[in-house]
Amino acid sequence: MNSINGKTRTLGLIGNPVAHTMSPFIHALLAEAMGINAVYVPFHVEKGALEAAIDGAKALSLLGNNVTVPYKVDVLPLLDVVSENAKMIGAVNTLKYVDGKSFGYNTDVDGLKTSCLKNGIVFEHKTVCILGAGGAAKATVILCAQMKVGKMFIVNRTIEKAFQLQQTVQKYFDLDVEVITYEELTSIEKLDICFQTTSIGLHPNSNISPILSPSFFNKVEWAVDAIYNPSETKFLRDAKAHGAHTLNGLGMLFYQAIKAFELWHDVVIPDAIQKVSFQKFNDFVYNR
Ligand code: NDP
Repeated sequence: MNSINGKTRTLGLIGNPVAHTMSPFIHALLAEAMGINAVYVPFHVEKGALEAAIDGAKALSLLGNNVTVPYKVDVLPLLDVVSENAKMIGAVNTLKYVDGKSFGYNTDVDGLKTSCLKNGIVFEHKTVCILGAGGAAKATVILCAQMKVGKMFIVNRTIEKAFQLQQTVQKYFDLDVEVITYEELTSIEKLDICFQTTSIGLHPNSNISPILSPSFFNKVEWAVDAIYNPSETKFLRDAKAHGAHTLNGLGMLFYQAIKAFELWHDVVIPDAIQKVSFQKFNDFVYNR
């Protein structure tokens, strides 16, 4: 751990609640590995105090913040500059303050992208399906569109939200996007990637899955879950049992932090450091 002194860069998470966050662990790990004098702390921000928190962060010359639930959307109008990805997704998870100005980014797309690519997932021309239409789904559909998938299905309990997401994608990309129901999933012949972005299966509800009939996975090549707690959801267990490759959400979480770290500190973290740090983070999360 770096020792704190007069030159320490201060960063932190803005959200409510923040007590569960693992970001301080990741950023301490990366700062130490990169030899950067920085500290990352959780900031609990009460409802109605978001603007004051951003102003305060700027006034205190913080280097940056992550933003989490429930402020990822609310923070947008408070910022001076918003990145293209964050605009498309309609949510910001990373802030950087430069010369009194606030810059907003969304590094969830980068996190999911790196996690998928490092595991050998190919997007180009593939048929993909996204279960869910919340925040994680937005980052997933934008990534899939940017990576030039061939065909996209969106499935969500509240179908209006799925149609909104379809409109968002088609506003920015020329892509074949279809909204279907969970029942209609059975009629798809083959799926290259099925992304699970709902909160179904999250600890402690580890015995439920949005896919009720596990034989569905016979036609799925890759099953990717945004959830990382538990490490293997029922969605992933069923997929694996039916021969699909599986990937949980830990990599997405880790690599969004890598991207945020690189933005804040203007560095590129070498692959070898990323690999060792991910292994340490994995051990911290699953072998404590
Ligand atoms: P949101 O609240 O924005 O969206 C939740 C989604 O889950 C909605 O599509 C909602 O459907 C669906 N859903 C919830 N309960 C049910 C249910 N009982 N039946 C059917 N659908 C349901 O959450 P997020 O998108 O922010 O997060 C979703 C998951 O992704 C969480 O588990 C979170 O931990 C994980 N996540 C992981 C990240 C990572 O880095 N690995 C990053 C962000 C999120 P409806 O619209 O009908 O309500």
